[in-house]
Amino acid sequence: MAVERVTDTIALFDVDGTLTAPRKKITPEMKEFLLDLGKRVVIGVVGGSDLSKQKEQLGDDVFDVFDYSFSENGLLAYKGHEMLAVQSISNYLGEDKLKQFINYCLKYIAGIDIPVKRGTFIEFRKGMLNVSPVGRNCSQEERDAYEVYDLEHKIREKFVAELRKEFGSWNLQFSIGGQISFDVFPLGWDKTYCLRFVEEYKTVHFFGDKTKEGGNDYEIYASDRTEGHSVESPDDTKAICTELFMK
Ligand SMILES: [Mg+2]
Repeated sequence: MAVERVTDTIALFDVDGTLTAPRKKITPEMKEFLLDLGKRVVIGVVGGSDLSKQKEQLGDDVFDVFDYSFSENGLLAYKGHEMLAVQSISNYLGEDKLKQFINYCLKYIAGIDIPVKRGTFIEFRKGMLNVSPVGRNCSQEERDAYEVYDLEHKIREKFVAELRKEFGSWNLQFSIGGQISFDVFPLGWDKTYCLRFVEEYKTVHFFGDKTKEGGNDYEIYASDRTEGHSVESPDDTKAICTELFMK
């Protein structure tokens, strides 16, 4: 029997832990399930990694399986095979401001005294800058030692406080994570970024596994715009979708 497709509702999915096991490829059963689900409701994927990584995990046919594909939280947005938009931090800030920010960080790093310094103090990524006082190409031992030193002397915490003071009006968000660095990105460039592309849908369901505060699904899960579903595994995602859309 043919099913009628609901067109005012979209179901959006995180990748790792939601459609696939963390960093693994999607199973054929899950792919089959999504193809079936896509006949009943509009579906989309939103992940933090870039498109090539997303294709590695979900398959080269990701544009055929999903109505919408958002990589890097939607900084690169596709509807079917059609690219809707692409955004980057250099485009957002402009080269002058970006340069001002990078110069400030490099000067700040030059002025702090820590046991060792290596190289790659700022890594430029499409949607963010990753800043590290010790430098990203330190060894594992240096990395571990830096983490201990940083905890005691609050190097990153003080650095970020200084940046907040200096660039407070630039709408930037700072996130201290991992052992040796912190990320800098525009406010709102979490997964809620992709919601601007699905405004036409009355109901937006979101499925993710890192939905607690601090997790990368938290903002979109908690957003007023979505009906959030916290899942524990791809099987869990499947069970909730079956209940919601396939009865
Ligand atoms: Mg996840």
